[in-house]
Amino acid sequence: MKTQRRFFLCIFTVVAFVAITACANASSQDQTAPRNIIYLIGDGMGYGQVSTLIMENAVNKEKYEPSQINRIKHMGMATTYSASSKVTDSAAGGTALATGEKTNNGTVGLNPQGDTLTSVLVEAAAMGKSTGIVVNTAILDATPAAFYAHVPQRKLWDEIAMQLTHHSFDVLMGDGLMFFNEREDSLNLIEVFKNKGYTFSDSWEEAKTWDIEDRMLVLTDIKYLLPQAVEKALEWLDRKDNPNGFFLMIEQARIDGKGHNNEVQGLVFEMEVMDQVMKVVLDYADAHPGTLVVITADHETGGANIGYDGRPFFSTKGHTGSVVPVFAYGPGAECFTGLMDNIEIPARLRQLMSY
Ligand SMILES: [Zn+2]
Repeated sequence: MKTQRRFFLCIFTVVAFVAITACANASSQDQTAPRNIIYLIGDGMGYGQVSTLIMENAVNKEKYEPSQINRIKHMGMATTYSASSKVTDSAAGGTALATGEKTNNGTVGLNPQGDTLTSVLVEAAAMGKSTGIVVNTAILDATPAAFYAHVPQRKLWDEIAMQLTHHSFDVLMGDGLMFFNEREDSLNLIEVFKNKGYTFSDSWEEAKTWDIEDRMLVLTDIKYLLPQAVEKALEWLDRKDNPNGFFLMIEQARIDGKGHNNEVQGLVFEMEVMDQVMKVVLDYADAHPGTLVVITADHETGGANIGYDGRPFFSTKGHTGSVVPVFAYGPGAECFTGLMDNIEIPARLRQLMSY
């Protein structure tokens, strides 16, 4: 009996080891596990949105400028369906990308049975990594919330804000101040964060000048200043120089809205913001070997594509079930090629973090 158990344990170990090394050693120059992970999500960024960025740079500008996507050699594509629908919302999509489990549309950080799911960001914090969330939407919005909250309904903003206080992520930047200091329960959650040692600001103009050691909480609408906010977060994480590295989650949330509203110029603009964010993180990865960047989307919005007139157009005002791109850069990037389900992305990040 004991021998049999040892046999199965041995087989399991071999299988696990092969699975990890098959992923981590696929490319000869990228043999080490990443120390830092930057996980960048473009809300609503499908292939039509990416085509828009590439084509605008290639055709509609006076001079061809390659987009940041030209720098990326490891690419894959991901299916995005949820547990309840072929077409996901950001709650189920964010939960899949954060935790590696499918759930029903509208649900954040819980499986369809209501069990709590743990995100890769929370796991990274438990491993001693520095952690951060930088988003140009409410920090309580479904996509970032999936990385720390567990609620049956994505609009339970007061509860999501409360659950953020249960964690101690190092860098927090996003909108949604009123859910922290103008709450139905009259609690002031800003004070809770200050008591945990955070420096707080509701002004980007102030926060951008900070040169602080404290954890930072910046609650304001960053909008198109997302590239600068990401730079600020990376500057803080770099100064901290945690020997265990860091895990930074970023969302360019505003692509989705342009799809819902079918705004062509808005889409072009927000994809250019996305390109600038990609430049910041890819430049950081170049300057700091050991940094893995994974870029993907929770779903596609608007059924965007390029028309015969060379301009983007939309075919719906809602989300679609289209597959989305996965771009990876740095050590471990080879683990994110081919067709994968969206829940495999955090599973592969987990594998690399434990390597
Ligand atoms: Zn949407």
